[in-house]
Amino acid sequence: MIRSRGADAVVLGGGLSGLSAAYTLSKADRRVVLIERDCEVGGLAKTATHRGFRFDLGGHRFMTDNPAIESLVKDLLRDELLIVPRKSRIYMLGKFFDYPPNPANAVFGLGPSKTAKIIFDYCREQAAGLFGSPDIVSLEDWTVNRFGREMFELYFKQYSEKVWGMGCKEISGEWAASRIDGLSLWKAVKNSLFKLKNGKIRTLTDRFYYPAQGIGRLSERLKDEIEKDNTILTGSEVVRIRHENFNIKHIAVCRQGVEMDLQGREYISSIPVTSLVKRLYPRPPYEVLEAASQLRFRDLVIVALMLDRKSLTDLTWMYLPEKDIPFGRIHEPKNWSPFMSPEDKTHVVAEYFCSRGDGISGAGDEALINLTVRHMEKLGFIKACEVFDACVLRVPNAYPVFDVYFKDRLKIIMDYLDRFGNLHTAGRNGRFSYLNMDRAMESGIEAAEAILGKPAEKIKLRSEPDEVRPYHTRMVA
Ligand SMILES: Cc1cc2nc3c(=O)[nH]c(=O)nc-3n(C[C@H](O)[C@H](O)[C@H](O)COP(=O)(O)OP(=O)(O)OC[C@H]3O[C@@H](n4cnc5c(N)ncnc54)[C@H](O)[C@@H]3O)c2cc1C
Repeated sequence: MIRSRGADAVVLGGGLSGLSAAYTLSKADRRVVLIERDCEVGGLAKTATHRGFRFDLGGHRFMTDNPAIESLVKDLLRDELLIVPRKSRIYMLGKFFDYPPNPANAVFGLGPSKTAKIIFDYCREQAAGLFGSPDIVSLEDWTVNRFGREMFELYFKQYSEKVWGMGCKEISGEWAASRIDGLSLWKAVKNSLFKLKNGKIRTLTDRFYYPAQGIGRLSERLKDEIEKDNTILTGSEVVRIRHENFNIKHIAVCRQGVEMDLQGREYISSIPVTSLVKRLYPRPPYEVLEAASQLRFRDLVIVALMLDRKSLTDLTWMYLPEKDIPFGRIHEPKNWSPFMSPEDKTHVVAEYFCSRGDGISGAGDEALINLTVRHMEKLGFIKACEVFDACVLRVPNAYPVFDVYFKDRLKIIMDYLDRFGNLHTAGRNGRFSYLNMDRAMESGIEAAEAILGKPAEKIKLRSEPDEVRPYHTRMVA
């Protein structure tokens, strides 16, 4: 039975943040209803299945510097959790480059004169910094300052423009600083030479956690725990949110074409903040709606090719910055966990970054599969005849877009939402913030704590975590 009346909290959205919020409230014996539009929970951190093959919507590695989140994840997944060594490469100029950068590999790949130019440009930027801090507005400013112009032109410009679909001068430098805080060319090189204790620089980490059956297991486990005492409604879309005097009164949910009202004392929203604002009735002031219409998201198209061969690479990720390759990143799920594909087969997953209305988002599945096969073959990675099956998935709102204006627009929206007495926002799109999974979980837990009025450490996590099984990926010649 749906506890539509008198629930302590209604949670909007069943990604990791919404699930973590509902889990925390459930463990504190609160009555919760979680509403999820899709037919499964997990949001961006789902694992798709296709005829014996499993793949995430873009490979999701789990890592965190928060011991409570780490303990919760280990506790939920126990012996399903693997430790996977990361091996990433950048493919450009027809060669593979290590990521994080390795000086020897760079000199070999780029040649001594290009390498010298990178070092010279970097030193020049650092020297200029001694005479006053540069004005950092855009991603271009930030990257040139941290890596030098040559490195920016070579890698960051092309890759960032592929991901974001706009020039690096239009992307916020503040976002880059928060996303890859602490990283610079020198630190990346130092890391490769001396293996820094890199807990603080996430992008340099060399191991991560991964559930044997894909990242979606984390959401499934949270769901199992929540449903012991509470209700999750999947296939249910929040269509209207009624409020009065900055208090949410009830929400209208559409399920299988039928609308129903749900009521709770408190509400946690992890659906995109722009959707939240548009669903409020009475309508928010014009400037709030206008700000919401100007915040944008970047979508993702995933093309998985099933291959009639045992293995393709030994990599966890391969980045492809060059413009004439239409996808930006590929991964082979079998290198994350051997349980992701049948033993004698493998699959490779290509990620296309796109925006609504562009050529990629408008292309049909068959065209996208042919495009992927053609380019993978041209790159020499596969032979077209090895592809015996394929699958295309579309992921809307994969990345909040941090253009140089986003902060002012977001502030208008958040200032308005903060006036609501019983509404809490959480999650990546719910707060329009570039959160990884652990931070998304944290934000859901924090929203639940705001309702409970007690901090994280007081919330009882279950027993001590078990040992995690290390899993070493196969190294293929
Ligand atoms: C390609 C890619 C790779 C990534 N890789 C990593 C990684 O390696 N490591 C890492 O830590 N993080 C990674 N992330 C980030 C990670 O996916 C997110 O941090 C996390 O999944 C966000 O969870 P969330 O609950 O905040 O949001 P979401 O997962 O977006 O959940 C929001 C939910 O709300 C639902 N919803 C939306 N509108 C409505 C509505 N009107 N009614 C009801 N429900 C609605 C959606 O269906 C969705 O399930 C990656 C993200 C992407 C896109």
